[in-house]
Amino acid sequence: MIYLQYNQALRMRAIQMVDLKAQHDKLQPTLNDKILEVVNSTAYIKGQEVQLFEQELAAYLDVKHVIACANGTDALQLAMMALGLKPGDEVITTNFTYVATAEIIALLQLKPVLVDVHPDTFNIDISVIEKVITSKTKAIVPVHLFGQCSQMEELMAIAKKHNLFVVEDTAQALGADYIYQSGRRQKAGTIGDIGTTSFFPSKNLGCMGDGGALFTNDDDLALKIRMIANHGQSKQYYHDLVGVNSRLDTIQAAILRIKLKNLDEYGALRANAARVYDELLKDISGIITPVRIGYSNHVFHQYVLKTHEVNRDGLINYLKSVDIPCNIYYPVPLNEQKPYMDNSREFPVTKALCQSVFALPMHTELDYKQQGFIVNQIKRYLSL
Ligand SMILES: *Cc1c(COP(=O)(O)O)cnc(C)c1O
Repeated sequence: MIYLQYNQALRMRAIQMVDLKAQHDKLQPTLNDKILEVVNSTAYIKGQEVQLFEQELAAYLDVKHVIACANGTDALQLAMMALGLKPGDEVITTNFTYVATAEIIALLQLKPVLVDVHPDTFNIDISVIEKVITSKTKAIVPVHLFGQCSQMEELMAIAKKHNLFVVEDTAQALGADYIYQSGRRQKAGTIGDIGTTSFFPSKNLGCMGDGGALFTNDDDLALKIRMIANHGQSKQYYHDLVGVNSRLDTIQAAILRIKLKNLDEYGALRANAARVYDELLKDISGIITPVRIGYSNHVFHQYVLKTHEVNRDGLINYLKSVDIPCNIYYPVPLNEQKPYMDNSREFPVTKALCQSVFALPMHTELDYKQQGFIVNQIKRYLSL
């Protein structure tokens, strides 16, 4: 009851993990007009919006080819099929990620080789990669988790030395910059052989349904990805490869074209909300705010806190009881999930993170009042 009064006193909008309604309201009537235009055109599949979106995203990322597809999981599948990986080949990826990354490796009868992560960045631990490389290793799939790039310079050097492909899972870091030691910046997802992303509604660039894309600077790979995404077809009714059907709907492409124009602004709003959280949370013992690194900016797909000697699950339950949504990304290491079970090695960092992290609401419409309320409630629980 106390929190209700407090809520009312502040005249605060309900807090959501992601507030798409408020984000989309700001794009009206452009968004509705465009959707209606596509509806009236009846070009629902392969309409010109798809090609235009691919071109505009390629220009934004400064990459030669963007190939749109049906979702981020398909993008990973198309990438691994295009690289010609064969059953039994080993693919190194992180143990601390969304399941899709390992799932596609397993689905193609490749062997996911999981690697522990760095405790500050939550990204693949570069120092472990070479220890798990064997004669069967063919690729490394770093995931730029929560909005921050993996250590790409080091990772690319390892890949080059061992002649491995690199597929960057950029589903959570679209728009992030990798910053080289020289100071040069390059967009996440455009450094390895192929980058993949998702336009799931809650991602930093989200559509109103499912969507995904691949990026590459390699002409041959781009052609192959396009063919595989379209039933392995070289020209209509001529099928040179076993492919799949994975397309981005025209309506989604049209929506994404409008939202892509705002992607940098969305990133800035998220980064600003993160700075506010950092400031408000900085002196609370037991709560560790996200660590910033020199080699990447952070586009804050998620704002993930680490807890230390705090009853994390009790805190989460308390926050939910006062209408503050929060979530655990991810509660279980992949190596402890049934299909990916691997007890042959230890993953102490992933294990500890799964038990200690949680994410606060993070989106482009979060305001200071909401963040103040959230942090006050965290303090309240911790002082109980
Ligand atoms: C969201 C996500 C995916 C999958 O994207 P979908 O569009 O939902 O298939 C893959 N990898 C990571 C890291 C993700 O966050």
